[in-house]
Amino acid sequence: MNEKKILISNGSVICGNGKVFPKGWILIDGGKISRMGSSKPPSCGENTIVLDAQGHYVMPGFINAHTHLYSQLARGIPAGRMKSFGQVLKGLWWKLDRALTLEDVYVSATLGAVEAIKSGVTTVVDHHASYGAITGSLGAVSEAVSNLGVRASICFEISDRCGKGARDEAVAETGLYLESLKNHQASDPRFLLRGMVGLHASMTLSDETLEQALELMEIFGVGAHVHVAEGIEDVNATRKICGLSPAARLVRKGILNPNSLAIHCVHVDEEDIKLIKKAGCYAVHNPSSNLNNAVGVAPFLALCRGGVPVAIGTDGMSSGVACDIKLASVLHKPGALDAQAAWNEVEGAVRFVAPHMVSGMFGCSVGVLEKGAAADVIIVDDAPPTLLDGKNSWGHTIFGVLNARVRTTIIDGKIRMHDFQMADIDEISLSNAARKLSKRLWKRII
Ligand SMILES: [Zn+2]
Repeated sequence: MNEKKILISNGSVICGNGKVFPKGWILIDGGKISRMGSSKPPSCGENTIVLDAQGHYVMPGFINAHTHLYSQLARGIPAGRMKSFGQVLKGLWWKLDRALTLEDVYVSATLGAVEAIKSGVTTVVDHHASYGAITGSLGAVSEAVSNLGVRASICFEISDRCGKGARDEAVAETGLYLESLKNHQASDPRFLLRGMVGLHASMTLSDETLEQALELMEIFGVGAHVHVAEGIEDVNATRKICGLSPAARLVRKGILNPNSLAIHCVHVDEEDIKLIKKAGCYAVHNPSSNLNNAVGVAPFLALCRGGVPVAIGTDGMSSGVACDIKLASVLHKPGALDAQAAWNEVEGAVRFVAPHMVSGMFGCSVGVLEKGAAADVIIVDDAPPTLLDGKNSWGHTIFGVLNARVRTTIIDGKIRMHDFQMADIDEISLSNAARKLSKRLWKRII
């Protein structure tokens, strides 16, 4: 059976490229936006699903540029009192990832993908770790996100923290996953998964491991996805290893290149920023996580001023990225003593940097509503109460869209949620399975 077309009519369409259609329509065909416009929508035949947006905002789906889907089963875990970032890593996350089974990984990724769809996130850039179940884990994450039709880049967080054997297994898992992607991508232009070479952070990576990672990057033509100077611990440990900052070490080793993602960049100085800019990689700002772990505030404005393209992620705090976008938009104002600070930069992060990053991964236009772009579209449960035009659509996004629930999520031209109802999953069964698994998982950790 032919895939049905979708016509979204009567929308307050914010295209994400400066254009708006206050009474707009979008026609989706074969996973792409085939036509769009304002006023009267085209008449369509039987093979078209018509969605009346009822005047609500219609937007490109959000991109979460860094998350950890494996964190989902930790919600509410009584992990005890932890003060430093090192304690948070050792007392919670590294314990958790060493205790995960493949079933936990699958269910956790499924929960995260559901949360993404409900939050209007249509692309997740995931950084996976499960040192209790390495081999097959990227397959489990892939299966979970594919079942729900979420666009995703996936990688395994290679590290030396669990010994050489585990490191070798993580390298092998990365290679197997990237090899499997080649076949899928070649046979299906609409394949929604991509991969990177994941690395934990300079402080848990030996030179030998960095060389192995670089080899994988070269073989498969992908970038690295790596935490950089998230906490001062990474800076201190890296200086001990080689006398350099984490950014300088990773640039010198060739790990940070134009396809790579430098996550966090909290403890970077002006020299690091110059090096990151020269390497041509992206940075990803995760303000909620940085505040939650008390690691500091990333110099987001200095990175932007230094010409580094910065996107926004959540670092596993949630799959939805709205809170982090909103937080990024206000966090840097007091330090700058400027109520307008970060306005343009956060808009750029959401509307330009993240779409550019993901479009490069997928080889098509993602994160914008325009003819020929990927049909990743959301309908938000809010309508503009004031004039909406090309000049104020970011204001409508910050003060309206980000506060509202998402009604409908379409990814690659397929309806994944409509009127708050998930299309492809029994959520009650999922919750029941997750509660059982998390109970067992917590017993293994605490
Ligand atoms: Zn992270």
